[in-house]
Amino acid sequence: MSDLAATIAAIAAAMARETTRGAVAGYIPELAHVDPRHFGIAVVDAEGREHVAGDADLPFSIQSISKVFALVEALAAHGDRVWARVGREPSGSAFNSIVQLEAEAGRPRNPFINAGALAVTDLIAGSGGTPAILRRVRDLAGDPTIAVDAAVAASEAATGFRNAALANYMKSFGVIDGPVERTLPVYFEQCAIAMSCRQLARAGRFLMHGGRCPTSGAPLVSAERARRLLALMLTCGHYDASGEFAFQVGLPGKSGVGGGILAIAPGRASIAVWSPGLSKQGNSLLGTRALELLAHAMMWNVFNPDE
Ligand code: GLU
Repeated sequence: MSDLAATIAAIAAAMARETTRGAVAGYIPELAHVDPRHFGIAVVDAEGREHVAGDADLPFSIQSISKVFALVEALAAHGDRVWARVGREPSGSAFNSIVQLEAEAGRPRNPFINAGALAVTDLIAGSGGTPAILRRVRDLAGDPTIAVDAAVAASEAATGFRNAALANYMKSFGVIDGPVERTLPVYFEQCAIAMSCRQLARAGRFLMHGGRCPTSGAPLVSAERARRLLALMLTCGHYDASGEFAFQVGLPGKSGVGGGILAIAPGRASIAVWSPGLSKQGNSLLGTRALELLAHAMMWNVFNPDE
């Protein structure tokens, strides 16, 4: 096993030399301006030590990584009623696909694709709305400065025709019960939360610690719920590249089209990477590569017999 600080520095240096970086998410106009040369990484280890390299303190749009925090909030506020409207199966389809909804009576496959997240957010829109999600993220990260980037939220609202279609389609099946006009803004705002790698890695600590607060040890979510969140991240966290991520990296993770990925080595580390260029499935190209290198060097893999 390698030294963590040296490994992270070496990975950041290697990523800075990469010339193939993928394309930024141009379909959200505000994200199309982001410089693809950014790369950041932050790792919080089991003892709470933080190791960072590159642009680890620069905020970026967390996009679909917010789906993890929204699910935590929905489960806290609504319990297992969440599972009445959304499944727990990988979709094998694009993040914004509508095709399965018709065949499956409007019930999205999982909470980490857009349709599933909209169904989850509809529950929250009827309880605490965006403030509840933001409060949850701030509490988990221990950072009251985390905020929604209003320009990104407005940019998504102006161009979010597919999300509007998904929400309306699910509404026709009764899977969304509130007004679509109430659900969509909350969804766009949660996606537009801006966080740095360091803040994101801090927000993921409870998942490394079986649902417990890293400082007080108090349960933030039950151990069973933490395990289940990780199971969903492993099987559904990277859209139609979830199997490939499990194969190459071997850790539960959730990506977003802002180029961030939150990955968890249970009992070992909470890891956030960011590089805005994406693969064709919408996952950060260099972020995935960096996680592969890190997981391999540190021998962090949930399928290791000693994990
Ligand atoms: N806000 C993005 C959308 O709804 C999130 C997509 C993602 O990060 O996967 O298209």
